Amino acid sequence: MALKRIKWVGIDFGQCIMSPSSLRNPHIFGDIGKLLGKQAIIPVWIDRMRRLKEKYQTYTLLKEKHRDEIESFVFDNDREAYEIFKQKEQELLSMAPGVPEFLTWLNKEGIRPNIISELKKTLGPVGDDIITSFLVTKGIIRHFKYFITPQGKVNLDTDERFYDYKGTSKESGTLYDQLMKDLHEEGIEPEECVMIGDKRITDIIPPKRRGFITIQYTGHVDEGSCEYSNYYAKTFFEIKEIMEKL
Ligand SMILES: [Mg+2]
Repeated sequence: MALKRIKWVGIDFGQCIMSPSSLRNPHIFGDIGKLLGKQAIIPVWIDRMRRLKEKYQTYTLLKEKHRDEIESFVFDNDREAYEIFKQKEQELLSMAPGVPEFLTWLNKEGIRPNIISELKKTLGPVGDDIITSFLVTKGIIRHFKYFITPQGKVNLDTDERFYDYKGTSKESGTLYDQLMKDLHEEGIEPEECVMIGDKRITDIIPPKRRGFITIQYTGHVDEGSCEYSNYYAKTFFEIKEIMEKL
């Protein structure tokens, strides 16, 4: 059995587990317009979406923190169009290469990983936000133990919620401080923990400073090398290979 030292794994969501590369605006907005018989407005939606993306730089940031504006700004509060958008979006977003295989392997090794993500919206029922909805749609939610966010922590088996994470953040590191407290109570120390993510300021530097092992995922966005990254991987197949040696 591998993974003698590792007892806990955290994985970032946006541009890590979830890869937005298959999301093409002309495709998605074109479909919605045709479905609703509103072809004339398709270019307007596409243009507004482009402006929104420019404002927030990345689709992930837009999606995780400012998605209300997709409804209010892009669709001008057209509820019906926005509902279809959410559905289409789920169908078109894809998992990073190797995610299902990695999750199956890790669970067999006795570790159920956790999603560590920024979420601006208040926690609703599982499946209500973009993140858990994606995990449900892709059929991978059963592999995860906790969904940990600045809005709280959810046990994905029992739906139990813990609000001591409220107001923390990944970037400031306070979310990881709370996490370390929880793990310590379970007898798990930082050097037995692996954090996987694409973004240095939120996924790599704060956990590394607290003693975690860090794997920088470069398959979607490659921020380049960083003294706080222990390993780099372009796919989850590579992450599995790295972890087999830990
Ligand atoms: Mg990310």
